[in-house]
Amino acid sequence: MMLSFKPRILASIKPRNISRAARLLYSTEATIGSQNQYNLTCGLEIHAQLQTKQKLFSTSNNIFNSPPNSQVSYYDAALPGTQPILNTKNVYLALKAAVALDCKVSDSFTFDRKHYFYGDQPAGYQITQHFEPYAQDGILELFPRDGVKKPVKIRIKQIQIEQDTGKSTYIDDTANIDLNRTNTCLIELVTEPDIPDPETAGIFVKKLQMLLKHLQVCSGELESGAMRVDVNVSVNYGQRCEIKNLSSTSAIVHAIKAEFKRQKKDLQNGKKIESETRGWDGKNTWKLRGKEEGVDYRYMPDPEVLPVDLEPGLVDVVRQTLPELPDEIFKNLLVAPYSVPLKDARSLMATYGGVDYYKAVFDYVKERGGKTKTVSNWIVHNLLGELNVQDKEFDPSIISVKNIGDIIVKISDGSITTASGKLIFKHYLHNEGEQQSVEELIEQFDLGKAESGTDGVQEAITSLCQEVIDKFPDITESIKSGKKPKSIQFLIGNVMRSCQGRVDPKTIEEVLKSLINK
Ligand code: ADP
Ligand code: MG
Repeated sequence: MMLSFKPRILASIKPRNISRAARLLYSTEATIGSQNQYNLTCGLEIHAQLQTKQKLFSTSNNIFNSPPNSQVSYYDAALPGTQPILNTKNVYLALKAAVALDCKVSDSFTFDRKHYFYGDQPAGYQITQHFEPYAQDGILELFPRDGVKKPVKIRIKQIQIEQDTGKSTYIDDTANIDLNRTNTCLIELVTEPDIPDPETAGIFVKKLQMLLKHLQVCSGELESGAMRVDVNVSVNYGQRCEIKNLSSTSAIVHAIKAEFKRQKKDLQNGKKIESETRGWDGKNTWKLRGKEEGVDYRYMPDPEVLPVDLEPGLVDVVRQTLPELPDEIFKNLLVAPYSVPLKDARSLMATYGGVDYYKAVFDYVKERGGKTKTVSNWIVHNLLGELNVQDKEFDPSIISVKNIGDIIVKISDGSITTASGKLIFKHYLHNEGEQQSVEELIEQFDLGKAESGTDGVQEAITSLCQEVIDKFPDITESIKSGKKPKSIQFLIGNVMRSCQGRVDPKTIEEVLKSLINK
């Protein structure tokens, strides 16, 4: 006998009993057609390489940039008779990431085989977590300080642990296969389609990079492929396309914009969106393959990897031993005692090691009564700007906390001008291993501030100012007539140069003004 229950269920849902919004959801066509509203739906899938010494299921080393095929065990090469043995350090790092992202972690989880053949995957399958990912239902919240207009919660659907493949490099018709990366550990993190706009995708990825790097789980680099982002894009929760291989946050943002535009145009022209995997050429997305051509991966539980049962309480221990998370660190930088301006705080956060260095200099300057307000400016603009290491790692030994701190303290207490401070600072940057202290350098280069009260100094300043006034009569005239009062800065700059920055600009301005208006 045939059982027919479908019509009855449908009949019990009467359109007039459901909200207008829900009705629109029942018919995507109506949403798109009659409302003429095209909203982006976007979710991300992110692979992150774990920074462990050893691979996921073997004891060979996880070393990047070593000679091809030098870090390959028999198991990695899939020789018959070898078996996987789970390296638990990988699980520990994966747990750190999951806990920091507020995921529910399963007490017990399993691994599965995903079958496909590729030269750089000799086993013919990848071990992943298809049926029971170890972590689910997490969240990463973005705040205005991260760059979004209003707070937005991006839900993490799941995170799974899996093996990476090897690498194929094509030279003419030959594929060169390097198995060093085979069987190294990845986590794949899948978000819900909660990304409201392309810029937010970029901000999300940056925040995730920072978090994983801070936890020492992954280097977070997109360029090297340590982190790989695929974006899924559709219009109004419709048929989606996936764009692969986006190697910078700007590529992510622009690819989403372009793909959304493409789909919108197709829909406006009455075309259907096909489910596709697409590439990105820097301007447009283009079809790599259709999903209907997709293979059946024949997922099956891996019979050789035992289920993992976490020791009771382990997840709590991981939670309790996490370092202070970037969200907290960032929030604290913006308020007393630090009160770092938002832009500077962002730069410090983006530079690995930047915040710790800042705090050490802050404490040093504070203990000596210096102006702590200028510390972030010194570090972000003079130090990180000069070294060009923003968004990267920086080596704090380049100038010690004591040396940069002493420069700031000496400027604060009026012993040297800011210009002299910058000279000393550059001296340290350009003379690695300089052993002399800030005080010794002030002495050696005679950089002590020329005090206008001391013998002969006032006359010297006056004569330097007069020289500059004589050199630029037109400018002096335009200041005098009130036409271009701001040109005084130009004259001040010239006097500063001729006294090598040893007189502070305020004094120079006073002397210049009195000479001009005489
Ligand atoms: P599947 O099970 O088909 O792989 P998932 O639910 O795992 O699909 O989603 C894969 C990715 O696609 C996730 O990042 C998710 O946020 C995103 N996604 C799901 N539905 C849509 C949609 N309609 N439009 C855009 N992205 C989507
Ligand atoms: Mg999926």
